[in-house]
Amino acid sequence: MPTFSFELYPPRSAAAELALVDSLVHLARVDPEFISVTYGANGSSRGASLAVLKELLVLGIQPMAHLTCVGSSYSEATRLIREFLDSGVRSFLALRGDPPEGTSEDDVFLGDLRSAGELVQLIHHVQAEREPFSEQDVEGFPGVKRLRTGERVTIAVAAFPNGHPRSRSVTQDLDTLLAKEAAGANLAITQLFFHAEDYLRFVDQARAAGVTMRILPGIMPVLSSRRLERILELTGEAAPVELQRRLSVHASPASQAAVGLDYATELSAEVLDGGAPGLHLYTFNRSGPVLAILRELGLITTVREPA
Ligand code: FAD
Repeated sequence: MPTFSFELYPPRSAAAELALVDSLVHLARVDPEFISVTYGANGSSRGASLAVLKELLVLGIQPMAHLTCVGSSYSEATRLIREFLDSGVRSFLALRGDPPEGTSEDDVFLGDLRSAGELVQLIHHVQAEREPFSEQDVEGFPGVKRLRTGERVTIAVAAFPNGHPRSRSVTQDLDTLLAKEAAGANLAITQLFFHAEDYLRFVDQARAAGVTMRILPGIMPVLSSRRLERILELTGEAAPVELQRRLSVHASPASQAAVGLDYATELSAEVLDGGAPGLHLYTFNRSGPVLAILRELGLITTVREPA
């Protein structure tokens, strides 16, 4: 059975906070594998992200904390990781993050960690330091001991089926992903994309390059022409002509939302048919659209009362 997981962002107002609590309750009821919470550039949302992650722990859902390292020293990044681990978070999405707008790599200090891979290593290091190796008996071999660490952390990383905007070639993106796995990442989540073949081709190329971890497709229901324009601006993805055409035929927000939902549902079905291990759904903090997709695909099997 394919897995599913969701992404949320920390609310920016009291009204948004109330709306998020309502969404959280609905999302938690369908028992996702995890829910990830974004992290504002340069740590701007640290407290708010942590509050949502703690809320997820209370609801009995595995929280995944996005962390960025651009601009941080080793000691700042280490302190941050310890703080999240102390709060009970055991899953991370390790990101480099973007340099402040208008700066180049050469003219400002962008922190001690040069890539997401180095952040993956640091998370493992901090985790191991907190949970030292312990000796365990080996079954069937009296007197023989084996060394074991405590809990295993999930460390996810980002992947870019259509290439990262700053990457020079597909090969560079594949090499970076491979390096992140070698550094200890055990899950990849993709940037949004609009055509199933973009994801499926990328996974084939990643496997050929030696990447073995799961690569979850990031699916975003885009429910209006305005939202689509904004997303293309932010991600640098090429405009999806067919979705643009379908949205442009409709003027009312409700019809545009229905078109966007159908498109995301078709895309999800196609990647699953092509072998995707699950779906990671970008929610914009709303439960309705993503739950409609999962229902349409028959993926909601559990409805439980939150803890
Ligand atoms: P890396 O893995 O280190 O690099 C990504 C790619 O860019 C690689 O292909 C690499 O080769 C290339 N590259 C990087 N730097 C350079 C360079 N200087 N020159 C040439 N090529 C380069 N951002 C946030 O601020 N907060 C979030 O919560 C957040 N969540 C995200 C979740 C997902 C699933 C994704 C896909 C992205 C998210 N981002 C978030 C955006 C992310 O911070 C940016 O994509 C950032 O530009 C790169 O981070 P990374 O971890 O992918 O970097």
